Parts: sequence; C-alpha cells; structure tokens
Amino acid sequence: IKQVSMKIGEVLQEILPMIRNEALLYNVTVLYYPKPGLSPILADKELLKQVFLNLGKNAIEAMDGGGNLIIREFSSPCEPDKIALEFRDTGPGIPADVLDKVFDPFFTTKPQGTGLGLSVCQRIVHDLRGNIEVASDRNGTQFIVWLPCFEGPT
Ligand code: ADP
Ligand code: MG
Repeated sequence: IKQVSMKIGEVLQEILPMIRNEALLYNVTVLYYPKPGLSPILADKELLKQVFLNLGKNAIEAMDGGGNLIIREFSSPCEPDKIALEFRDTGPGIPADVLDKVFDPFFTTKPQGTGLGLSVCQRIVHDLRGNIEVASDRNGTQFIVWLPCFEGPT
C-alpha cells in the first residue's frame, strides 16, 4: 500500500457526490459534519475511498423508505493518536445475532448482495493499522472507522 499524508475530509469530499446521488434514489438525506483542525492521516486514498463508499452505500441500502445518513468526523481524547469517521443511519438496525457476522466474507442479507463489502472494508482498514467498530439497535446502525494520525517529522 502506498501511504501518504492527507485529511480525512479531503478523501470523503471525493466520494460524497456519489453517495448523495445514491441517496436521492432512496429518499435518504445525507448530513455531513466535517471537523476543522483534525490531524492528517497516513493512508492510501483510493483504498479509503472504497471503504467510505461501501459504508455509505450499505447505510443507504438499509433505508428503503428514506431516512438520514449522518457522516461525522471526530477525534477522541481517549484515542489521541487516531481520527474517526462515523457513518450513522436511521435504518432498521442489524439484529444482535447477525451483528457479529457482518464482516464475514460472503455474508449478505440482500438478494443481489455479494457480502464482500464489509470484509473488504475491514481488511483495508486493518492494513492501514486502523479499525472499524459497529453498533446497532432498532433506531439505526453506526459504523466508525478509526485511522492513525500522521505524525510528521518534528
Ligand atoms: P452486501 O452489501 O453485499 O450485502 P456487505 O459486506 O457490505 O455485503 O454487508 C453485509 C451485510 O451487513 C448486509 O447484507 C446487511 O445485512 C448488513 N449491513 C451492513 N451495513 C448495514 C447497515 N448500515 N444497516 C443494516 N444492515 C447492514
Ligand atoms: Mg455492501
């Protein structure tokens, strides 16, 4: 992987138009909350775009009757060397017995699904030394991608 320093928002900006287009078809409203002043990350832009696009598409596909997709950048004092990007939807949520399978290759609940999206996302994020968290209840689903900050030469 070719890793360079970049802002997480700059990666997101490149796929946001695609996500917004997809959202229109599903009657989904996309709300994006950038956070100014976040540290840059060290990553491969094309691979990260793939991750963010997959998470955005999954969220939208979960909201057939419309809803909100909230995309939010943040950092946490508990993880000072990491940057987070959250994808939260107001879809039906993922049942508890299904939740621990969503990252398995070929696990899908969609008639035309491949079940490869999340396993590829997880693989990419792990290769970038980050991690993906998922939480879900009947009010919706939240995926958080954590990525290490880039500490430039001092
Ligand atoms: P695919 O999208 O081809 O089904 P993924 O690996 O992207 O494969 O997702 C696996 C499964 O995880 C989906 O079929 C769906 O059941 C579940 N899933 C993923 N994201 C969400 C979400 N935001 N809301 C509800 N279910 C989800
Ligand atoms: Mg998918």
